[in-house]
Amino acid sequence: MDCIFCKIVAGSVPSFKVYEDTAALAFMDINPLAEGHTLVIPKQHGANLWEIGEDSLRDTVAAARTVALGMKTALGLDSLNLVQANGPWALQSVNHLHFHLVPRRENDGVPLDWGLSPGNRDQIKAVADRIAAALQAGP
Ligand code: 5GP
Ligand code: ZN
Repeated sequence: MDCIFCKIVAGSVPSFKVYEDTAALAFMDINPLAEGHTLVIPKQHGANLWEIGEDSLRDTVAAARTVALGMKTALGLDSLNLVQANGPWALQSVNHLHFHLVPRRENDGVPLDWGLSPGNRDQIKAVADRIAAALQAGP
């Protein structure tokens, strides 16, 4: 499969690895949003949150927490964003599920602030009902 992150897992493409266990791998993002920007991926290929297996996802989230704890200590952090994109309009550019661990500091200018503006409560409830109904109907 022509997947850059599978190649990183296989070792055929180099990376700056920071953590590895049987299920997950963490390495530095080569286009860092902030110093220390790290990616955590499942070793098993899954394109996104919809396609990844539950066990693989669970193990990858656990690895993300382990790596975040290491980053907290190493970089002296009290703030960090966990970011994950699915699909083209979410600007997913690599179709192998990955979590971004982005260190945050005061006034760092990292463009993740979407502000808060209240929505229409009726519309919020209507869409909540649609999602809940789909979940009750099952996959
Ligand atoms: P996405 O846009 O899919 O959420 O994030 C993909 C991330 O993978 C980007 O931040 C990009 O910099 C990173 N990336 C893409 N190719 C490589 C690579 O070959 N090596 C590393 N270390 N990161 C990569
Ligand atoms: Zn892959």
